[in-house]
Amino acid sequence: MQTEILGTDGGSLVAAKRYIEAGEVVAFHTETVYGLGANAFSDDAVRRIFALKGRPADNPLIVHVHRDYDISKLIDGEPAYAAALRKAFLPGPLTMVYPSRGKVSKYVSCGLDTLAVRVPSSPTAQAFLRAVDLPIAAPSANLSKHVSPVTAQHVFEDFNGKIPLILDGGPCSGGIESTVLDCTGGVPQILREGLVTREMVASVAGECLLYKRKEGEKPKSPGMAYKHYSPYCRTAYCRSAEEAAALYDAEQAAGGAPAILCESGAVGILEGRNTLDLGANGEEMAQRLYALLRRGEKSATLLIAVEPKEQGGVMAGVMNRLKRAFGGSI
Ligand code: AMP
Ligand code: MG
Repeated sequence: MQTEILGTDGGSLVAAKRYIEAGEVVAFHTETVYGLGANAFSDDAVRRIFALKGRPADNPLIVHVHRDYDISKLIDGEPAYAAALRKAFLPGPLTMVYPSRGKVSKYVSCGLDTLAVRVPSSPTAQAFLRAVDLPIAAPSANLSKHVSPVTAQHVFEDFNGKIPLILDGGPCSGGIESTVLDCTGGVPQILREGLVTREMVASVAGECLLYKRKEGEKPKSPGMAYKHYSPYCRTAYCRSAEEAAALYDAEQAAGGAPAILCESGAVGILEGRNTLDLGANGEEMAQRLYALLRRGEKSATLLIAVEPKEQGGVMAGVMNRLKRAFGGSI
């Protein structure tokens, strides 16, 4: 199969609709990361996503719909705070988990009685979702465990020859996956941190909990149990730039080609060494993280991360990805 990379002009949306209706999988741009989408009503199409990614069968998918899609067809009721949150943040990088009506394929939620729904703001995603006018089940368009894709080229690297079409909307502006918010209880609860922060949710809903898995407990968001976002090269995680410099010098002395991923403030301390600049604030670091991990794994024998000093806002989501990519505990 030949994999085409196309924008949303010309005949690409007609082709995308045809592929989706035929049970094929199509990758598409969103404002967070690229998604790997299929018709959420079709068992075979949804199972194809799992097979393509090598995704564990108990890690549920998010259903994507266009902004005018009536989600009451898919979900079984909505608390008042969730309706307010939808008004405030959608379309945007917020996934909301509801009681499911069980209308989509059972493979979407992997046996859970809930359904995760998202309305992306990306014009490319909206054009695609509107053209197909179906709920599209889509995880991130990377091989399972690999770094999430933030350009069409990243998707191509993982799925060339395996999918017919990548809808290219340019680099993703957000850069990390959506916030996943459980809306099945009396108070919203964040299952995965992202660009819509706990403070932002609380400012609309009054309060917002943050889910923390207890030792030995089955996670509420199964995907959070897995090693994830990992570059293919060796990695190391350091608390300070000095520690990273020592590791770097040892790797270089042993004939390796190390690289250091760090916030802008640490680049000066590491002068003369190969650094990948994550940026100076949470938004920049979210936007650059995955592209730099993908760049690092191609050239470095050892990729070393320095823990950013920057805190607050979207840094919670960035730190979650960074630590999981580098094998640390969160
Ligand atoms: P990905 O699209 O690869 O970022 O993965 C989707 C994320 O959403 C995973 O972390 C899932 O565990 C989570 N998710 C999807 N559906 C549900 C659900 N019904 N309940 C809780 N978490 C979900
Ligand atoms: Mg993913």
